[in-house]
Amino acid sequence: MSPGPVLTYLDHAATTPMRPEALDAMLPFLTDRFGNPSGSHRPARAARRAVDDARDVMAEALGCEPGEVVFTSGGTEADNTAVAGALACRPGSVAVAPAAEHQAVLAPVEAAAGRLVGVDGTGRVDHDSLSAALGPDVAVVSVMLANNEVGTVTPLEEVVVLVAEHAPGAVLHTDAVQAFPWLDVAPAAAAAGLVSVSAHKFGGPQGVGALVVRRGVALAPLLRGGGQERDRRSGTSNVAGIVGMAAAARVLQGDRSEVVARVGALRDRLADGLLAAVPGTVETGVGGAWPNRDHKVAGSCHLCFDDVEAEALLFLLDQAGVCASAASSCASGAAEPSHVLAAMGMDRARAGGSLRLSLGWTTTEADVDHALTVVPAAVARLRQARL
Ligand code: PLP
Repeated sequence: MSPGPVLTYLDHAATTPMRPEALDAMLPFLTDRFGNPSGSHRPARAARRAVDDARDVMAEALGCEPGEVVFTSGGTEADNTAVAGALACRPGSVAVAPAAEHQAVLAPVEAAAGRLVGVDGTGRVDHDSLSAALGPDVAVVSVMLANNEVGTVTPLEEVVVLVAEHAPGAVLHTDAVQAFPWLDVAPAAAAAGLVSVSAHKFGGPQGVGALVVRRGVALAPLLRGGGQERDRRSGTSNVAGIVGMAAAARVLQGDRSEVVARVGALRDRLADGLLAAVPGTVETGVGGAWPNRDHKVAGSCHLCFDDVEAEALLFLLDQAGVCASAASSCASGAAEPSHVLAAMGMDRARAGGSLRLSLGWTTTEADVDHALTVVPAAVARLRQARL
C-alpha cells in the first residue's frame, strides 16, 4: 500500500530522505557491480576497493584512522557491539549509561545488569549521579552526543574527565547517531574510544552504520563468522549501503554548516510560532535555567501540549499530511510515556502530550507554514473534544 503523498515530513530524527548522491553512488553496486568484497577475483576486488574508499571517507568524517572504522548494520548494532563487546573483554565488569539513552544502548546495559544514572531537565547526564556509579569494576560508559527525542547535545569533555578519575579502566562510548547530521563529530567525539553512527539519519540508506573502535580499545565482536572487518564484525559487507553512507557523509561534510544555519532558523520559526499560537504549550528542556536552544541540535523541536494525547494528535497530523512523532520512533505507538521525558523529571500528564517535530535537510519554509497551520488546529480540536 502506498502511504500517499507526504506533504510535510517532520520526522527526520526517525529517518531522513536519502541524498540523491547517495542513491546514485549505490545503484551500480545493486546491479552490475555486485561482487563480494571478501573474494579474490576482479569483481570482488572492485567491491573491496569501493568499501575501502568508503572507509576513508567515514574515517575522515569521524576523525579516526580508516582501520578504526567497523561497518555495521546500523546504529543499533554499533551500540550493542560497543556495550556488549567491551563487557565481554572483562568478565565481571559493569556498564554505565544515563537513563535517557536510546534503547539500543539501554537494552544491552540492562541485559548485563548495568547501572543507569540520572539526567538533568535537558536530558544531559548528571555529573554527581555519574560519578557515584563509576568505579574500578566499570568497563564501559555510554553517553550519547545528541538525544534522539529532545535533541540535547552533551559535551563529552567533562564526562571523560569523570571517567578517567573514577573508572580509569573504562572506555567511553558515545552514540553519535543523532549528532552526526548536525555536528562535526570528529572533534565532538574525540574523547570517546567508541563512536556509533547510522547512515539513514543523515541522508544515507537504512540498515548500515559504523562503529569507530580506536586503536588500543579492547572489544569482542558481537557477530562471529567469516572474520570480515578485521574480525571485529563478521558477515558479508553491505557494499551498496556502505558506499551510499559514505556518499551521504561526503555531501554532508560539505554543506553541514549551511544546513544547520538554514534548518536552525526554520526550527526557531516553527517552535516560536507554535508557542505563540497554542496556549498551554511548553518547549521541552528550554526555559528557566536553559533560556535558549543553544544546547539542542538545529533540527529538533520538542513541545508538550497540555490536555492533549500525543497519539490522537499524531493521528490528526497524519491525516492533515504532517509526519511527526511522539517519542522515539521505535517506541511510537506504545502507550507508555517516553523514558527520556521520565528521566528528565517530566510528569506523566505533561509527557503524554509530547510532540517531536524533527526537521532535516529537505525541510522548507512551506513545511513550517503548513505545520504552523495544522498543529494549532489539531490541538484545538482535541481540546474541544475533551470539553
Ligand atoms: N541511537 C540513536 C540515538 C537513535 O536515534 C537510533 C535510531 O533511532 C539508533 C541508535 C538506532 O539506529 P538504527 O536505526 O540505525 O539501528
